[in-house]
Amino acid sequence: MLKYLEGHICLVTGSSRGIGAQIARSVAAAGARTVINYFSSEQKAMQLLAELTEQGYQVMAVQADVSQSHEVEDMFTRIEAKWGSVDLLVNNAGISLKRLVTETREEEWQQVMDINLKSAFLCCRRALPAMVRNRYGRIINIASIWGLRGASCESVYAASKGGLIAFSRSLAAEMGPSGINVNVVAPGPVETDMLIQELDNDERAVLSEDIPLGRLASPDDVASACLFLLSPAASYINGQVLGLDGGWKV
Ligand code: NAP
Repeated sequence: MLKYLEGHICLVTGSSRGIGAQIARSVAAAGARTVINYFSSEQKAMQLLAELTEQGYQVMAVQADVSQSHEVEDMFTRIEAKWGSVDLLVNNAGISLKRLVTETREEEWQQVMDINLKSAFLCCRRALPAMVRNRYGRIINIASIWGLRGASCESVYAASKGGLIAFSRSLAAEMGPSGINVNVVAPGPVETDMLIQELDNDERAVLSEDIPLGRLASPDDVASACLFLLSPAASYINGQVLGLDGGWKV
């Protein structure tokens, strides 16, 4: 693979497993010094760290709950002490919630908003001053097509992702003059723990048949889109929402 991210420092939040882990593999292979962030899956994060280190890539792993500002601060301080400032940021950490609105507790609303939306605000706010100083930065926020279209029984999750899209578009306008691109990748269903938790094998098979490309997305499909948006080829792409749903319409 071409090492076109050599010289860059990339933080991928929530990269112990699933989509984030695959994004970390891709950016590390493209030459970026890569930060794996995890919350509870320490063993998986350590396995990924070992896998990528063995391949000769520059990787570090940092435990942090990205919905907590002091933990975000500590994470960035550790990265800066080891390597320097983050110039590629992928806000990927997220949780789902499948619940009727009438059965959703206030704390559940808050938790989804904190992990899916506030975390991106906290990480962007911490990363931006150095990006502005260097007049360079790329930010990708991982939303969901539910953030564009909404989904029954996922109103709170969809609201968090819709908020993330509005935040990203606004930030793209605010930060473009400083040489910073902000874009969104909005996947449809992706084969990870998150989806397996919600849909059994039969339900996933039925869903695949509905998708024009005849399959669910893989984490690698999302990672490829991110790699493109982080690459020099995407330097004029800003404030965009890339739907990644195999042509699926609901
Ligand atoms: P996943 O397999 O459930 O993995 C979620 C990741 O987020 C894990 O690495 C987890 O870390 C991390 N995380 C959760 N809470 C965190 C916190 N407070 N601080 C730091 N990290 C935290 O989910 P996924 O399917 O890969 O989803 C990744 C992103 O894609 C999410 O934003 C999700 O909403 C979005 N997405 C997924 C799908 C889908 O169908 N899978 C579709 C559209 C969008 P630990 O395990 O270490 O706790």
